Amino acid sequence: MRDLCTKEKAMAGPRPVVFSGPSGAGKSTLLKKLMKEYDGVFGFSVSHTTRNPRPGEENGRDYHYVTREVMQTGIDKGDFIENAEFSGNMYGTSKAAVQDVQAKNLICILDIDMQGVKNIKRTDLSPIYISIQPPSMNVLEKRLRDRKTESEESLLKRLHAAQVDMEISKEPGLFDVVIVNDNLEDAYEQLKAALLEEINKVKKINMSS
Ligand code: ADP
Ligand code: 5GP
Repeated sequence: MRDLCTKEKAMAGPRPVVFSGPSGAGKSTLLKKLMKEYDGVFGFSVSHTTRNPRPGEENGRDYHYVTREVMQTGIDKGDFIENAEFSGNMYGTSKAAVQDVQAKNLICILDIDMQGVKNIKRTDLSPIYISIQPPSMNVLEKRLRDRKTESEESLLKRLHAAQVDMEISKEPGLFDVVIVNDNLEDAYEQLKAALLEEINKVKKINMSS
């Protein structure tokens, strides 16, 4: 971790961005939109997980899908910046995932849960913290059900975690920006406004290279 941050500072690259918020709040939807509009500006930190891929997800692009044994070995070796247990599965950000993006001078995006946010706060990665929140628990449940990716058990676990997440995210100073994703376009405009300074930094670097 020390090495990574020393390198990062020496490069004076753009600040990473942490995205958090309840499962189903719309993080992936907003991130995909952002990365499509700003091609060559953002890079996704590909996490490791022990959960199974959903239809349409790709190993190495959405996640590195691994077994508990492989993940635990990596954690024990110190390969991870942070890791957490969420809804019965392990998730974690490897040092390599962040370094790969930062080596390209891109804004590194981390999509992580609340435990991840708290653990990243103990490092010197110094990201911008953005929370994506649903308008209500009812809307969140509907979105998760309509997405049709979760078993009833997983859905209930996610809704329980969401309740905790929505309470904690009110803690003053935990997030730099909190966006309520009610209308998608409005939420997206707020997201772009929050990231404008970093986006312009990368555009400048790209123009001068
Ligand atoms: P997350 O990545 O936070 O788990 P997703 O991006 O997968 O959430 O969004 C959950 C579901 O809600 C998806 O089916 C997505 O299409 C839908 N969704 C996202 N944002 C909105 C919105 N503003 N209005 C209605 N549906 C949305
Ligand atoms: P999903 O299974 O819906 O893709 O993700 C479930 C939760 O795990 C989401 O809140 C997501 O932000 C979080 N998550 C994904 N990758 C990581 C990671 O590397 N670390 C942590 N702490 N959480 C992660």
